[in-house]
Amino acid sequence: SWGSLSDKNVYDWSSEEEEPDGRARPIQVLLVKDDHTFELDEAALSRILLSEEVRDREVVAISVAGAFRKGKSFLMDFMLRYMYNHASENWLGNPEEPLTGFSWRGGSERETTGIQIWSEVFLVDKPDGRKVAVLLMDTQGTFDSQSTLRDSATVFALSTMISSMQVYNISQNVQEDDLQHLQLFTEYGRLAMEETFLKPFQSMIFLVRDWSFPYEFPYGQEGGMKFLEKRLKISENQHEELQNVRKHIHSCFTNISCFLMPHPGLKVATNPLFDGRIKEIDGEFINNLKVLVPWLLSPRNIDVKEINGSKITCRGLLEYFKAYIKIYQG
Ligand code: GDP
Ligand code: MG
Repeated sequence: SWGSLSDKNVYDWSSEEEEPDGRARPIQVLLVKDDHTFELDEAALSRILLSEEVRDREVVAISVAGAFRKGKSFLMDFMLRYMYNHASENWLGNPEEPLTGFSWRGGSERETTGIQIWSEVFLVDKPDGRKVAVLLMDTQGTFDSQSTLRDSATVFALSTMISSMQVYNISQNVQEDDLQHLQLFTEYGRLAMEETFLKPFQSMIFLVRDWSFPYEFPYGQEGGMKFLEKRLKISENQHEELQNVRKHIHSCFTNISCFLMPHPGLKVATNPLFDGRIKEIDGEFINNLKVLVPWLLSPRNIDVKEINGSKITCRGLLEYFKAYIKIYQG
């Protein structure tokens, strides 16, 4: 069974980020300021990771990263629904219920480069009997100028370093610059880490939104893998630069996979009054969502965060977070 902390008042919400109803919400733990300096909200991060129920549990840290307005929050709200409904068969719930969570909440839609963490850490029983803590992170950046690219790369690097699974949310296709960005931010990450013979990062999932060539590569994970194999293939007659990007990506992650998602339909994409209810989302999208979310989050699929081959607890993750941030603060 899945246990969550929602009903218990385990957090000390004494800070200014308290909500009147004490409900869980996204917390901006890392912020890139206009002068390109980084601000870590250590107090908020500590409150979340050092809460008594979770601090000594091994942690599964799931990050969804990518540019703004590409449907990250929308997806994460479904991930939250899955967690709150304890991975049950009917986790999608009432088709008329508006979607809540990361999106459509005051303050969470400011376009700030940084990392938000869901204030509630979920306790999940793995099939082998271990109880692990699951942390959800939203990592967002902009890539429109040299300076913001550097900021985004650093934030992405950090979130890749502290997550056990990085979901790279991209729109429509995997373009060469998506791969170059990935190379840049994994390189930032690798430079900051101790060198070992192990690959520095765990799982990378390319999540392609609005995939529109299902007749070429079908939606889902299998089509995604075939598509990605083709995109990441290294061949003799490729330009050296293209080969290097691919070699680099292969050398960074223990697992690399891909999922092709269909377009959710015009109501989702264009109607400002759309509130996230399933009834108004294309059936094809929902069908794939039913595959995607359990594939990412089911108790048997989630992996504990490892650094240099050792499993990390929430408490340990906080220490790494602080140490890594220092490196980038220079
Ligand atoms: P974020 O900035 O990446 O977190 O993006 P949001 O989740 O806030 O979504 C931005 C807009 O895109 C909203 O109007 C969503 O309804 C819409 N949206 C969500 N998912 C998708 C998708 O898969 N495709 C398209 N085209 N739009 C989406
Ligand atoms: Mg968002």
